[in-house]
Amino acid sequence: MSEAMLCDSTAIPNDNDKKALDFIENVTIHTDEVQAQVLSEILTRNANTEYLKRYDLNGCTDRESFKNLLPVITYEDLQPDIVRIANGDKSPILSSHQVSEFLTSSGTSAGERKLMPTIEEELDRRTLLYSLLMPVMSQYIKGLDKGKGMYFLFIKSETKTPGGLVARPVLTSYYKSQHFREKPFDPYNVYTSPMEAILCPDSHQSMYAQLLCGLAQNKQVLRAGAVFASGLLRAIHFLEQHWRSLCEDIRMGSPSEEDVTNPSVRKAVMNIMSPNPELADLMERECSKESWEGIIKRLWPNTKYLEVIVTGAMAQYIPTLDFYSGGLPQLCTMYASSECYFGLNLYPLSKPWEVSYTIMPNMGYFEFLPIRRDNHNEHTDNQPQLVELADVKVGEEYELVVTTYAGLYRYRVGDVLRVTGFHNSAPQFHFVCRKNVMLSIDSDKTDEVELQNAMDKATKHLESYGARVIEYTSYADVSSIPGHYVLFWELNNATHVEVPAEVLQQCCLTVEESLNSVYRQGRSADKSIAPLEIKIVESGTFEELMDYTLSRGASINQYKVPRCVKFAPIVELLNSRVTASYFSPNCPKWTPVRTDWETCKSF
Ligand code: AMP
Repeated sequence: MSEAMLCDSTAIPNDNDKKALDFIENVTIHTDEVQAQVLSEILTRNANTEYLKRYDLNGCTDRESFKNLLPVITYEDLQPDIVRIANGDKSPILSSHQVSEFLTSSGTSAGERKLMPTIEEELDRRTLLYSLLMPVMSQYIKGLDKGKGMYFLFIKSETKTPGGLVARPVLTSYYKSQHFREKPFDPYNVYTSPMEAILCPDSHQSMYAQLLCGLAQNKQVLRAGAVFASGLLRAIHFLEQHWRSLCEDIRMGSPSEEDVTNPSVRKAVMNIMSPNPELADLMERECSKESWEGIIKRLWPNTKYLEVIVTGAMAQYIPTLDFYSGGLPQLCTMYASSECYFGLNLYPLSKPWEVSYTIMPNMGYFEFLPIRRDNHNEHTDNQPQLVELADVKVGEEYELVVTTYAGLYRYRVGDVLRVTGFHNSAPQFHFVCRKNVMLSIDSDKTDEVELQNAMDKATKHLESYGARVIEYTSYADVSSIPGHYVLFWELNNATHVEVPAEVLQQCCLTVEESLNSVYRQGRSADKSIAPLEIKIVESGTFEELMDYTLSRGASINQYKVPRCVKFAPIVELLNSRVTASYFSPNCPKWTPVRTDWETCKSF
């Protein structure tokens, strides 16, 4: 699709759009003033919290005192306070407003999701940011009010803390809120998925019903998406597995009794469907073709673009999305987290690798830790001096530090951002990476230490066979859906011949059991990650890997075996030396109930 078809320079914003665009202009023109005001508001209302008193802020609301007195912290620093709140302490510890619930981040601490306290009012702030997305988009793409969005949105399981607060992911919290469920009709935000299907806790039924509704309204779909690229690909994979049954349902005009059992979901889907043999024929024709290239365009012919996050770790899915969508534009609209919703992409038509997000100065108070890289392009220790939102420099990289209305003060988010330019006086950031994340398939994030610990546990199975892993590396294989972790192991003297296959499969499972709960949930409940694979490579493979790396200019003195590989020629080299491969035979254990509540009590 050419940009000319997407862009409509004559598009006149309607009243609501104009208000939203004016709002963006206003806050980005006055970035520094808005930031000062946000900080002052946060510190004023929370002056009597235990946290601010602990650091002797004494009611000061200015930047100087704030910066001099409050430390820059990580989750671990905050954990004792979080645990007290989780255990039911209702005193104003971090925020003067009651903590309404915990948002469970996909970032983990000691193997469990981090718990981010939030307050009711934050929902308004999140809703405000969402309300800016379509006005921005409508400046570039016309007619989005003439059709629907097919978005695959899901809720995840929630749990209660010992003190009775709900703990759940931020999107589950948002989708279940009145802000989402009861939003007034807006022709720019009409979705194919009925609310009942989005809010259905059974992920199979939810996906089945959402796909069925998307198919039933195929001609009306103007945009398709999910939050992350992996989510949209999961929907396509589900379609690959279930298209025959979905096709039958389209023909008959009602959802299969086996796949959609929840009465309210059934009713909602029935309301949308009627027998459509013509569409069923189209599905049958298209889905039974050998290649699924361009399947999105073939089944949903009016789709103008995909809306999915393909920045950061999700960039690995760009080629696969290109394949299935027949090259539809992949638009990234928003940058957000459980801690705080940060901002949006003001130029949504930009190519995935050019996307920059403008942090909205009204969402929280933002500071930036400059990042220095050493000669090997590795991050080195951060400089202690934090920089203000309005003062960051184009081309520099920073770690994002937030202070929120909900009671996080100078909290390191762990995201590395590079400044690409400014919109008015608000900087625009390219998302570089999340610090320390080595492997990621969906929302899981595995770092080097976690992988090493998991390896230590798994390799114990080899001991009684006299086998040892002399070198290893890892790889996130997304060539099939869902993707999976691969470990390349070189064993001493190729002893693997004597290690029974079941033992190596057990090693796979032990690695999985040892990884964090987000990984295990992805494997067991969400099925968004496929079984982990161990590939045994020939003796000498890692020496070859070193030779290859040195031939590309690395210094022999500084050579370290990479614990994760991404570069295609290296992955090819490793794959060409594989002598055997083993998969995890079962799903690792996972329950929504956290294993650390007991630890919480002991704080
Ligand atoms: P969570 O902690 O589970 O709420 O996930 C939030 C994290 O997801 C952020 O801190 C980022 O690392 C990542 N993330 C969110 N939005 C984007 C985006 N647009 N591009 C890249 N990464 C993102």
